[in-house]
Amino acid sequence: MTKSNYWNGLLLIACSVILGLTATEARADQERPNLILQITVDQLRGDLPGRYIDRMGEGGFRYLLDKGVVFANAHHAHANTETIVGHTTLATGAHPAVHGMVGNVWFDRGSGEMTYNVEDERYGLLTQGADVDKGSEIDPTQKMARTDGRSPAMILVSTFGDELAIHTAGKAKVFGVSIKDRGAISMAGHAGKAFWFSKAAQQWITSKFYYEDYPEWVTSFNKADPAKRFADTAWELSHDRSTYLFGDRDDQEWETNMEPYGRVFPHPFGPADGKGFTTFLTLSPAGDELTLDFAKALIENESIGADTVTDYLSVSFSSTDYVGHTFGPSSLESEENLLRLDRTLAALFDYVDEKVGLDHTLIVLSADHGGPEAPPDLQQYGFESQYVRPDTWEKEAGFEALKKRFGIAEPLIRQYSHPYLYLNRELIAEKGLSLAEVEEAVAAELVKFEGVALAVSSTAMAEGRLPDTPLMRSVLNNYNPRRSGEIYVVFQPNWFINDFDGLAVAVTHGSPWRYDTFVPVIFAGAGLEPQKIYREIHTVDVAPTLSAAAGTKPPSGTRGKVLVEVLDR
Ligand SMILES: [Zn+2]
Repeated sequence: MTKSNYWNGLLLIACSVILGLTATEARADQERPNLILQITVDQLRGDLPGRYIDRMGEGGFRYLLDKGVVFANAHHAHANTETIVGHTTLATGAHPAVHGMVGNVWFDRGSGEMTYNVEDERYGLLTQGADVDKGSEIDPTQKMARTDGRSPAMILVSTFGDELAIHTAGKAKVFGVSIKDRGAISMAGHAGKAFWFSKAAQQWITSKFYYEDYPEWVTSFNKADPAKRFADTAWELSHDRSTYLFGDRDDQEWETNMEPYGRVFPHPFGPADGKGFTTFLTLSPAGDELTLDFAKALIENESIGADTVTDYLSVSFSSTDYVGHTFGPSSLESEENLLRLDRTLAALFDYVDEKVGLDHTLIVLSADHGGPEAPPDLQQYGFESQYVRPDTWEKEAGFEALKKRFGIAEPLIRQYSHPYLYLNRELIAEKGLSLAEVEEAVAAELVKFEGVALAVSSTAMAEGRLPDTPLMRSVLNNYNPRRSGEIYVVFQPNWFINDFDGLAVAVTHGSPWRYDTFVPVIFAGAGLEPQKIYREIHTVDVAPTLSAAAGTKPPSGTRGKVLVEVLDR
């Protein structure tokens, strides 16, 4: 430091003290929340909390909507609105093109196999056999993993939790909890710890990436057999049937009928050792209640938010997604589920208030994606909504003609894993064909099929030869050259695949249409004043806003904007 700099520095310090600037900075530090509580409700479309608000109690959604900063026009800006994609976007503030989680599964060209987003054979589960999923019929992505191991290694950028850990020299406690492994692992990031629920073991589990052995409190929590209290009980309506919007529509033909769970209330869970017991729990409010119990135990035993270092806890509630897939968002089951989720949230906020204080807790609630209405339901309103069957595409006459033109007799489509169509690259190379040319020709053929709105070739994306439309931008936000398929397929609004590995479900999300991109983004607690904002914002804005609130640098891949309404308090 030169002499004049030294004196300037001293002068600055003196001025700051006189003007009280250091005091202001100190106050800013004190205002940092003790806890950032990030809640993600799987498949909570933006309109759903408000739809039933009149019949919700105090302290849950009402607390968020009445006391919080509510962004009422928030959307995911990527096209493939699936669980891992949305969670990782919320965690990193990056688009899937950058964070790399382009789908729940993708085709790994190296191994020639489908890869599940959080699988990692290097880090086995701490409980052996916990991934042999008795209940995977409702969540076939569970079956996509080739190994029991799990880690966040395939997330290519940092999460907010990572930045908080780095900023505090590892003193911040960072945790992610969810029924779903991907709902926990994505949010915990690389530096945090994740716990999820094994339907097979009926326990909360983790992998060797996080721990060598379970913490003592997790072992005792599991020993108490947390799911058992639901054995031989049923999911029942909590209010008189006549008070529900869908009270007279319990049995709708598109609802999935799983015996003995059934399509109408009460839905029996069966005995604890019965087939599908834990699956049935997750497709009822019980799944969220199990998550709440574990989150409370974690807050208590890990002393979350107990000191002045900001901690981070992510809780991802999965029941709304399972119930939505099975019965549709406009069903008595979904309505009852949201009324019960409201109570679960109220219980969580009560607990956090008691342990940390809501004034010292910054809450943010959002969703990994929205969800559509069931096609047969939409038909009643005049829409020609249908289910789509991509497995028949290659047999269509136009496709046959195209293959003939290229001199191909073998299968040209290697794999269709929505939304990506993977071509048989080896065959194309063998025949000396141009990949770009085949991609373009196949894409041109695909858009002729009923229900297909758009088919975009990866070469066109890589070369930037696309019209600059909102839809194309959302597809481009999903494009990662290593993981994306050769062609991105967008179905017409309200057209879906409903075949999930042989199981017909009521609805599937995953489109760039507004019903799938529309999610709530609500900040509350930490002295925030109520506000409702209708400006369009995106889910990539959440993580950089948390960074600004905690004073960390933004996550490495984020291009989201800080939501200033949350910081002005
Ligand atoms: Zn989801």
